[in-house]
Amino acid sequence: MKLKSETQDQDLSIYIHWPFCKSKCPYCDFMSVPKTDPKEYDEVEFLLLKDLVASLQELEISSVRTIFFGGGTPSLMSVRSISKILNFITKNYKTDSDIEISLEANPATFSKQKLKEIKEAGVNRLSLGIQSFLDKNLRFLGRIYNSEQALKAAETVAKMFSNYSFDFIYGYQSQTINDLQKDLTKAVDFGCPHISCYQLTFEQGTPFFQSLQNGKIKQIAEAQEVEFFKHIQNFLKKFSFNRYEISNYALKNFESKHNLGYWRYQNYLGVGPSAHSRLAFNNQKYELKKFSDINKWKSYLYENLSTYEEKNPLTDYEQLEEIFIMGLRLSEGISIKNLRSRFSENILNPIWKKIDYLFDENLLEKSQTQIKLSEIGTLKQNSIVEFLFN
Ligand code: SF4
Repeated sequence: MKLKSETQDQDLSIYIHWPFCKSKCPYCDFMSVPKTDPKEYDEVEFLLLKDLVASLQELEISSVRTIFFGGGTPSLMSVRSISKILNFITKNYKTDSDIEISLEANPATFSKQKLKEIKEAGVNRLSLGIQSFLDKNLRFLGRIYNSEQALKAAETVAKMFSNYSFDFIYGYQSQTINDLQKDLTKAVDFGCPHISCYQLTFEQGTPFFQSLQNGKIKQIAEAQEVEFFKHIQNFLKKFSFNRYEISNYALKNFESKHNLGYWRYQNYLGVGPSAHSRLAFNNQKYELKKFSDINKWKSYLYENLSTYEEKNPLTDYEQLEEIFIMGLRLSEGISIKNLRSRFSENILNPIWKKIDYLFDENLLEKSQTQIKLSEIGTLKQNSIVEFLFN
């Protein structure tokens, strides 16, 4: 039997996970392996297409809304392979007329020519992981390029694409507000329509986490984190950027459609090692995850077996929790009408009581139609969700 996407939302987003990077950044806990072997690239490119074809065959979908090449560093993929994947989707499935096709790129991994070919292959949105334009901060973050290369890459992207994003990391000891200001000013000067600013986190198992444990690096104070966050918001506001998600800012109509799909809890298919999906089957929503072990993922594909390591039905309560985890990240918040149409009062009642309490504490805002974080609540999103669901 086929997996069926939900009745009210049959548009699907597709995420393709490219699992390799040139080298591993010390803060990164994404599923990515440092590798530059062209044979391995060829093999994984071949298998990604195979995984995509098999995964799509299990689905009944009306159309494809967005496609996102993420990773890892998908700008290391061959243009031939990006083309094959896009051709397969567009030839076999109906795609929205304004389909968004994004690709994440690392500044040290593409030439002007390659970027031109990526665009010709159909990619219409580029997400450039700059992290900083300043040498001292790039060194601290263990990035594989310098300021000059970052600027050159940014210039190439800005000239070639109208829809693109620059990603930055902020909130570490060696970075000052002035540094951050310089990075954001550069992005604005390039005319960049979308900026992501992620706060540095110390994830278990990363070299940075280790350094934090043995005192080689220190986390910045909470008050300083707040100062950075507010500075970003206030600065970008002056240039008409709207913070539409906790870490994401866009000019009007330049929000990432693909990522909005995650935050609005729409269905998506993830393909490639470790990729997650949220799909519905006979009106039952499932969380699915592909094998994280790249060798296992490969061997299952060679044997024509399903590459899902996990396929768990989500209870109503789990779905409600996910809706809050994702939806409260958005400035628009969560639609009350959608909650009421989707869940029974039995499930919603205990949550309403807690929402009223958070509202009285000025941590949430509630209108006739939406529930969203207040300004103070924005900085406490994790604890708010924990309070609601524990
Ligand atoms: S380039 Fe990106 S995905 Fe690769 S190791 Fe660095 S942060 Fe992680």
